[in-house]
Amino acid sequence: MNTPIKIDQLIRSHRKTIGLQITKDARLIVRAPQFASEEYIHQLIRRKESWIKTKQDYFKQRQDKILVRKFIPGEKFLFLGQSYTLLVVEDLPKAVILDNSLMISKMVLANAQDHLEYWYKIQALEYITQQVKHYAQIAGVKYESIRINNATTRWGSCGYKDTLNFTWRLIMAPAKVVDYVVIHELMHLKQKNHSRKFWAEVSQMMPDYKKEERWLKENGYLLT
Ligand SMILES: [Zn+2]
Repeated sequence: MNTPIKIDQLIRSHRKTIGLQITKDARLIVRAPQFASEEYIHQLIRRKESWIKTKQDYFKQRQDKILVRKFIPGEKFLFLGQSYTLLVVEDLPKAVILDNSLMISKMVLANAQDHLEYWYKIQALEYITQQVKHYAQIAGVKYESIRINNATTRWGSCGYKDTLNFTWRLIMAPAKVVDYVVIHELMHLKQKNHSRKFWAEVSQMMPDYKKEERWLKENGYLLT
């Protein structure tokens, strides 16, 4: 016999139908009409069992892969798609990459998270600015400024005043993926939408952009 599916949260409201939602941490949220009976709700859940389990397994699997960072020596950090091992050294004014190591000073170890986040932001600004300049020149587009933000799922955006925004987390992705996001936002300077014309502009700059787009969809959650 199958173990019954557990409802993590039941929200009743003035709705007419039952809605099921699986959250990113694999919890089942059920939204139900005010007076729907428990039996009716469970009946529906049993009918949707395989859909619920598939979704829950998917999110659980993803969660297992997400690192809980401890910021201790030996831990792996991504930078432009490469994995580097955190190494703590005596004296170092700022973090630095050497061979396969990401080195930080012993003095900042207690604040390693802030220190590394700051370091990533600086690297992101430097690298992304360079790529934006490069591709803007090729495409013949003008932008106002570049900003680095803290977004967790939105890799880039193009503001209405032609400011380009990128999350510093992007610098963990492979270089080709970073280029794709840069090109994507630059093409929004020409087309402020996702029309066919927009995608045609993107593919003119990067013919195989779909590969990078797929990479972000499948692996973006690992850039933490
Ligand atoms: Zn877009």
